[in-house]
Amino acid sequence: GRGPGGGTRTTATHCPYCSLQCGVTMTAGDRPATLVPADFPTNRGGLCSKGWSAPELLDHPERLTRPLVRADPTDRTSPLVESSWEVALDRVVAAIRATQRDHGLDAVGCFGGGGLTNEQAYQFGKFARVALRTSAIDYNGRFCMSSAAGAAIRAFGLDRGLPFPLADIAEADVVVLVGSNPADTMPPAMQWFDAGRARGAEHIVIDPRRTSTARNATLHLQPLPATDLALANGLLHIAIAEGLVDEAYVAARTTGFDAVRAGVAGYWPDRVERLTGVPVEQQRRTVFALARGRRSIVLTARGAEQHRSGVDTTQAWINLALALGLPGREGSGWGTVTGQGNGQGGREHGQKADQLPGYRKITDPAARAHVAAVWGVDPDDLPGPGRSAFELLDALGTEGGVRTLLVMASNVAVSAPDARRVISRLRDLDFLAVSDFFLSETAELADVVLPSAMWAEEEGTMTNLEGRVLRRRRAMDPPAGVRDDLQLLAELAGRLGVAGFSGDAETVFTELGRASAGGPADYSGITYRRIDEEQGLFWPVPAAEHPGTPRLFTERFATPDGRARFWRVEQVDAHERPDAEYPYVLTTGRVLAQYQSGTQTRRSRSLQLVAPTPRAELHPDLARTLGIGQHDVVELATRRGRARFHALITDAIRPDVVFAPFHWGGGSSANALTDPALDPTSRMPAFKVCAVAVSRVGEP
Ligand code: SF4
Repeated sequence: GRGPGGGTRTTATHCPYCSLQCGVTMTAGDRPATLVPADFPTNRGGLCSKGWSAPELLDHPERLTRPLVRADPTDRTSPLVESSWEVALDRVVAAIRATQRDHGLDAVGCFGGGGLTNEQAYQFGKFARVALRTSAIDYNGRFCMSSAAGAAIRAFGLDRGLPFPLADIAEADVVVLVGSNPADTMPPAMQWFDAGRARGAEHIVIDPRRTSTARNATLHLQPLPATDLALANGLLHIAIAEGLVDEAYVAARTTGFDAVRAGVAGYWPDRVERLTGVPVEQQRRTVFALARGRRSIVLTARGAEQHRSGVDTTQAWINLALALGLPGREGSGWGTVTGQGNGQGGREHGQKADQLPGYRKITDPAARAHVAAVWGVDPDDLPGPGRSAFELLDALGTEGGVRTLLVMASNVAVSAPDARRVISRLRDLDFLAVSDFFLSETAELADVVLPSAMWAEEEGTMTNLEGRVLRRRRAMDPPAGVRDDLQLLAELAGRLGVAGFSGDAETVFTELGRASAGGPADYSGITYRRIDEEQGLFWPVPAAEHPGTPRLFTERFATPDGRARFWRVEQVDAHERPDAEYPYVLTTGRVLAQYQSGTQTRRSRSLQLVAPTPRAELHPDLARTLGIGQHDVVELATRRGRARFHALITDAIRPDVVFAPFHWGGGSSANALTDPALDPTSRMPAFKVCAVAVSRVGEP
């Protein structure tokens, strides 16, 4: 058994997957580990199939327990063979040194993940800036939360997914969900929605697909993908025309409304109906519901955000919420539903190309001075901002790009847009090291693979979708031969001759608290003990005696003048529109029984029973036109690549749209199809829309 000291023991911890971070109680030791849901404030005894199945993977036969290196270090086509840590780390350090010597400091890069703990994300950012002295670090949250973060910072001066507790959803009279499907992605969260609807609340879902969430709503608006901005501007147009604007709130708490008022003048309802496909009557019902609710909430998620105009689209929904006086009003507001387990904390502690810990800007001299002092380095030695995730990947192996890359907790070969291009860039690297617990599609390409500890085997903190900082607790020892990512980074830094990197999570958390002190995401008043005693703490917590901040913006926004900022935004066409060659719209997303790039969930026997094959959704009319039968194999083709799926014919999708899940790689890689057109502010790729051709390949 892997129980500490033999026997069994139970540990309170959290599901490893999504941002709801459901509380669980694990039993581990002499027998294979099991878990049961806990009565934690977010899930209150609920758990989805992903969470239930998570312990299966801890002892999975494909689990990596020894480092892997190429049999011939000069030939990446030679097989990966097991090695000692000594040999593996020697190779990593030798590659770093050679690249630095031949190509400069910025030619060594780091790529992190939103599944890392706060401590690991912090340590990874510090490792890049202090041990490697490179500007080249970014992470997969750029593909997830960056547009919402960009809009929230622009509008409110601060980005925390939900600026209010999840429980507020149960109390709201009206909730509008834009491009969000929690019934499939985080089912236990539905209890808050269900409680509201049982009280008679109006729930309006805006999604090109009639998802499980949409089916449970009181109203479903089904716009064409990438027209959400026009829809939001249209709703604001109606609010102005109908006198529904909260003028007192706008005058007291915001700036910039006049420009927005002028900007939406052209978004009259029947034009918006033509642009989006949403009938005028549904537009009106949505605005009137939001305006008349005593408590009204607008939530956006990836459906609205993963576009080349993702920041502006999110801003358009924030503009509407501001005009109706929602943000900062008790029980009301705008929020974004975070995706990855530590999608929130992952973006706060310095693994983003443009940020330092505490959610500070890397270009801000005061922020640099503060963090440099905590790190014991000269602020002038800290690198500046680097390239965003896709741009970093797209420059791999090129002149001026990264040549030696360290990837931690990310499977970019499946999750990055235009995945075939990214795979070819990964092959162009001089050296690739990947830390993971399974041989992911990215790890398969590596020169060195480092086996890391899984969630139940490590200590750390995560920050959930509400900004609640909670503890991941160690329930069992890692398998012999496996190392925690904190220890790995401390070891690598030591071998590079740089001191000051601890392998102990609580020590790193205390340092993270000091580094974040005074910044927007201030953790300095949080300790592991307080998290234990208070069921997590909502940041900011600027002092040991501070109670935390469940609700933000009640008095003022985090802008210099304390007012929220309206921002005029205009609908722009998607980068790719259907044409004769690629006549339909492709959108991508998740299914209930798989998670992200599938590195874990595709290996789970119980989840594979539920979602074994990737299925593309097509409307019956489209299927008929193309001669496609239920479960037939179809090929989707875009300007970037092709991928095959089984057809799932359903009238839940618009006839002009095809949906493909992105959890698979290889011949069923949805991201082999997606468009890497980037948002100018957030650098978010256009995952949610491109032009596609569909053809039948054969029978199931
Ligand atoms: Fe895990 Fe999210 Fe499912 Fe909860 S909802 S069990 S956190 S995947």
